[in-house]
Amino acid sequence: MRFSCVTRYDVLSESICARIEKELQANNYIKDQDNPELVIVIGGDGTFLMAVHQYMDKLANICFIGIHTGTLGFFTDYTDKEVEIFIDDLLHKKPQEISYQLLKVSYNDKIHYALNEMRVENVTRTQKINVIVNGEDFEKFSGTGLCICTQLGSTAFNRSLHGAVIQEGLPLLQMSEISGIHNRYYRSLGSSIVMKDDAKIQFVSNSFDHALLCIDYMSFPLDGVRKIDIELSKKHVRMLRYRWVGYFKRLKSLF
Ligand code: NAP
Ligand code: MN
Repeated sequence: MRFSCVTRYDVLSESICARIEKELQANNYIKDQDNPELVIVIGGDGTFLMAVHQYMDKLANICFIGIHTGTLGFFTDYTDKEVEIFIDDLLHKKPQEISYQLLKVSYNDKIHYALNEMRVENVTRTQKINVIVNGEDFEKFSGTGLCICTQLGSTAFNRSLHGAVIQEGLPLLQMSEISGIHNRYYRSLGSSIVMKDDAKIQFVSNSFDHALLCIDYMSFPLDGVRKIDIELSKKHVRMLRYRWVGYFKRLKSLF
């Protein structure tokens, strides 16, 4: 089995990484940074996002598993106190595989994939966005921007926008406003809206100049762009589960 570790840059995470590498190599696992079959993520949910983006073009051949240095996360089933158990499970147990759909965001000739969310944010001026869902005109938004998250991303930025947390197993999309203006001149839904997994959303505007497209931890300028397409993609992230950690236990460890 070819494996690689993606590690947060702190002393604890790096020492756990060294220990795991040593133990796995002693058990005939081969370290392969470029073409791993298994990617072990040691750090936080943010480290997991980075690992997924690092291997974005090879996701079909890779399974991920995570160790959280800190509390439990959404992408991680073991804490730093459980490295022993982790190695034992990996070497001896048969895992379940679960997969998460990525969000696909396209404009002009560009395509980006998000695990948590996509956002359009304009902090310099009022951003107007016509939102079209499945070809139907839905709303004219004005404000700082809009956020569309996956089920996994519902506990990330979406939660700061007072969007609902979505339980695991519901492959939905959720759109929330970022500082929407609601007055005599500007009207939009205001509340977050949860949409079916086959929803096809378009953001159209006369100008996205000075706005940023944020994809998880990354951002891209939108100058000159007029239309952005958003939908759940066929791309999946596959994760190994050697033991069942209840969703509400993970959720509780967040706050
Ligand atoms: P980051 O420091 O890597 O992440 C910011 C915080 O969000 C960290 O505490 C991280 O947990 C947590 N997080 C990430 N994904 C999560 C998820 N699916 N559920 C629950 N918590 C999650 O920041 P970054 O590199 O700028 O951005 C990465 C992600 O962080 C973005 O996709 C965005 O959703 C989120 N974020 C949120 C806000 C906000 O709420 N205002 C602001 C910036 C970014 P760990 O500590 O375990 O890594
Ligand atoms: Mn982080």
